[in-house]
Amino acid sequence: MGVIRRSGMFVLQVNPILCDGFGHCAELAPELVHLDEWGYPIISQEPVPMADIGAYESARYAERGCPRQALHVTKMNSPAPVSNVTMNQPRPVSRGRRPL
Ligand code: SF4
Repeated sequence: MGVIRRSGMFVLQVNPILCDGFGHCAELAPELVHLDEWGYPIISQEPVPMADIGAYESARYAERGCPRQALHVTKMNSPAPVSNVTMNQPRPVSRGRRPL
């Protein structure tokens, strides 16, 4: 029997233009979504590890349950390693006179 490893991170994002502010998502994913005083969702944009299966399932549940399809789970891979490539420096422009 194999082990499934979940790597990477995710964030739950809301499209504020589509959102109607009835706050259904806060019931579907209470650990990720809080509501402001008008009922609109406040969602942390801190990436959450995919290994947190409960949070990921809640995010997917809220995404599917949003009546306005305003929620989206975005998966993020690990950050790419910083390369050690340097850009070529621009060559200096000669201000001297051109030969005749
Ligand atoms: S369930 Fe969807 S439409 Fe309703 S408040 Fe949450 S994001 Fe907005």
